[in-house]
Amino acid sequence: MTDLLAHFRARKDGMLDLLGELVRRESFTVDKTQVDQLVGYLQGALRLFGAQTVQRLPQPEVGDFLLAEWNPTAPGKPVLVLCHIDTVHPPGTLQKAPAHIEDHRFYAPGALDMKAGAVIVLEALRSLHNQNRLTRTVKLLMTTDEEIGSPHSRAVIEAEAAGAELALVLEPATSEGAIKTARKGGAKFTLTIEGRPAHAGIAPQLGINAIIEFAQQALEINGLNDLKYGTSVSLTRVSGGSAGNVIPAHVEAHIDTRAITNAEMQRIERALGGLYPKMPGAIVRCRRHGFRPPMERQAGIFERAAEIAARHGITLEEGASGGGSDGNFTAAMGIPTLDGLGAHGDGAHTLQEHIIIDSLPRQAAVVAAILQEW
Ligand SMILES: [Zn+2]
Repeated sequence: MTDLLAHFRARKDGMLDLLGELVRRESFTVDKTQVDQLVGYLQGALRLFGAQTVQRLPQPEVGDFLLAEWNPTAPGKPVLVLCHIDTVHPPGTLQKAPAHIEDHRFYAPGALDMKAGAVIVLEALRSLHNQNRLTRTVKLLMTTDEEIGSPHSRAVIEAEAAGAELALVLEPATSEGAIKTARKGGAKFTLTIEGRPAHAGIAPQLGINAIIEFAQQALEINGLNDLKYGTSVSLTRVSGGSAGNVIPAHVEAHIDTRAITNAEMQRIERALGGLYPKMPGAIVRCRRHGFRPPMERQAGIFERAAEIAARHGITLEEGASGGGSDGNFTAAMGIPTLDGLGAHGDGAHTLQEHIIIDSLPRQAAVVAAILQEW
């Protein structure tokens, strides 16, 4: 392909048609039946895009995953491409916000995050395959639980990434159209406090008030924030107490934490793990779940991608994101990771979600160039 960009521009209508097919099939993460219909459609379509092997990985709780390979017998390490096909939009959202084109933008729930990403990589792979330009193995992993933190796919992602030369993540670009070379990590914690119940009228002095214990812990937890440095520690939910005339014996609270560096994630975890009761007899416990390590900027990776894109007349920019993605997992393993290679647009997770149509061929050219020349 002498002019990659011109090649994909000529394919723009076909790319839009495929995007229309994908957004027509709604795929809210927790609706397995619905997501599996989209999985079934893609399973059939992957062969048409040149995939030589297509495996469906059954999942009991979320939609099945798909793992497809191009050039499976090529020498060298494969490139792993990550794409999630679930969305945050409950069934029926498409009726409230129907797909339409306006002002060179394509609007539809799930279009930006990230069904356009699937279209971009499939079109790039088909073109490279048809023109015999693929000299390496490419593995495409399509997952269905990213929007709930990838609890089921994480192990599969890490197993596939372990032997990979490079991981490409087709999440949308930043709102300025930049590749994401750094992302915050995050972890959620549950704080539980046990006190001792007592009758609030007859013998309040016999109780240990879990709410009073919580109030003191809450201030200490709030003190862990370092917003200037990008670290946030937020108490996001709390419940406790049993009846209006009982000294409360139990409080449960949720804590959302985010940080740019692994060192900060560890500082927070140590502090939360080391909380001790302020009131004699109270019990304080903090348990971590749903951890995503930060994606720290990897030296030289963006520069190499930018150099490849420049050969095709495309200028790549880089940026950071406060949100996490599956790229956090591969980057934390030390696998070179390029994230935000998907469409440009805005309004992810809202009814105004849309992509800029011209970014489809542009990003397909970027992805094809990287797959061909990395
Ligand atoms: Zn996404």
